[in-house]
Amino acid sequence: MKKKTSLRVQLLGILVAFVLAIVGLIYFVQTTFLDDFYMRYKVSSLKSVAQSISDLIGEDDTEELFDHLGMNNEVCIRLVSNEEDFCYSGACTLRNLDHNTINLIAAETVESGGEKLFDNFRYQHRFNEHPEDVYIFAKMINYDDEDILIMVSSGITPLNTTIATLKSQYLLIVGIILVMTLVLALLISRFILKPIKQINEESKNLSKGAYDGSSVRTGSKEFAELNSTLENANEDILKADRAKKELLGNVSHDLRTPLTMIVGYGEMIRDLPEENNEENINVIIEEAKRLSVLVDDLVDISKMQDNVIDLNREDVSLNGLLESVYHQYERYCEGRDIDLKLKLNKDITINADVKRIKQVLYNFINNSLNYNSKESQSIVIGTEKYDGFTRVYVLDNGDGIEEKDLDNIWDRYYKVDKEHKRHQIGSGIGLSLSRELLKAHGFPYGAESSPGEFSKFYFDVQDVK
Ligand code: ADP
Repeated sequence: MKKKTSLRVQLLGILVAFVLAIVGLIYFVQTTFLDDFYMRYKVSSLKSVAQSISDLIGEDDTEELFDHLGMNNEVCIRLVSNEEDFCYSGACTLRNLDHNTINLIAAETVESGGEKLFDNFRYQHRFNEHPEDVYIFAKMINYDDEDILIMVSSGITPLNTTIATLKSQYLLIVGIILVMTLVLALLISRFILKPIKQINEESKNLSKGAYDGSSVRTGSKEFAELNSTLENANEDILKADRAKKELLGNVSHDLRTPLTMIVGYGEMIRDLPEENNEENINVIIEEAKRLSVLVDDLVDISKMQDNVIDLNREDVSLNGLLESVYHQYERYCEGRDIDLKLKLNKDITINADVKRIKQVLYNFINNSLNYNSKESQSIVIGTEKYDGFTRVYVLDNGDGIEEKDLDNIWDRYYKVDKEHKRHQIGSGIGLSLSRELLKAHGFPYGAESSPGEFSKFYFDVQDVK
């Protein structure tokens, strides 16, 4: 397998590459285009000074204004008309232009439509043997019937030394930025990578249900949330683990009891021929049936966990279905003095898997029978109108369920009373299976109860006709 680089090294690499790219780009743009930018800037400032002068001509005290304009923009100004010839601002290089040159500039400016830029104007400085490159922007205006030639000029400083200075400065800047990048990478590593590493390390204990969130130190909300999600997952794993152990214990207990009965009764009939009567043989048959229900429910539970349960849905009469369930329990209850009632509303047609819906109802009824320690037990199987639905319910006058347990009883393996009681009928794996079956049908479901008074388990269906 290819060796993976650590996130810290990758991050540092990305940051350094990014910084070098940015600094390189700035370096390239500055050193290559600096001349060009500089020229453009100079020319635009010459033009704007010439424009300001042409706007100001005719105002009072222009001399002082022009002087300031020249000084502030580091340019030299000269105005020439038939009558007057003025130069403004200190060391004015334009001062030394002779009249022939000025006439030439004036003629070319008029020819170009009133404005012209004379670049690289070679001008021999009076006190300097070396010729200097000068930009002159000339503008010809007409004021009071008089032609005025405005000339604004600026010396062009060679930029080679500036660029050399910039280059050496860049090296310094690159150095400083690289150090800052390192510091940044360390900070990121401390605030981001460290918690990731801690969470990753702790997650290795998750499968054992030993994730310890308190060892993860982080000030960030997102990591704290991730940490608490993993803590919850850990809690769920522990819960499921405990419940599985409990279920195994219960299931083996439930298996052993009917098996003991079957073996005991079988041996008794074998050894004592006079005990070979219908009643004893029925005990064996009943216990064997109970075992078969238990095995079926265990198979269903495992199918549910794998999401492979198939529903055979059909349109059926709701009342017909409930009557058949009622008749199945009628004799059993009569024999035990349990008051079982059927209270049906107007019949409707529902689309459901009859076998599965009966399974849910058996579970509700079996629980009503199991969790009732009263002398006179009563159970109602019924339907009622509820919020546009038809509510199918099983109501008992049994032990009831505490408010705090009402939501949990639907959870897999949840038992209110941890002391397992063997069920009269059915396997008792129950409500979690019922919940999955009702969910698969899309029927809303729920339970209401008052401890010591009643429990009501229900689901809601709709007429499909
Ligand atoms: P089991 O019956 O094996 O415990 P169930 O999933 O059917 O499994 O029920 C879960 C728990 O809900 C029961 O242990 C019981 O505490 C509670 N319960 C269910 N139905 C009733 C009821 N009708 N009256 C009181 N408690 C009930």
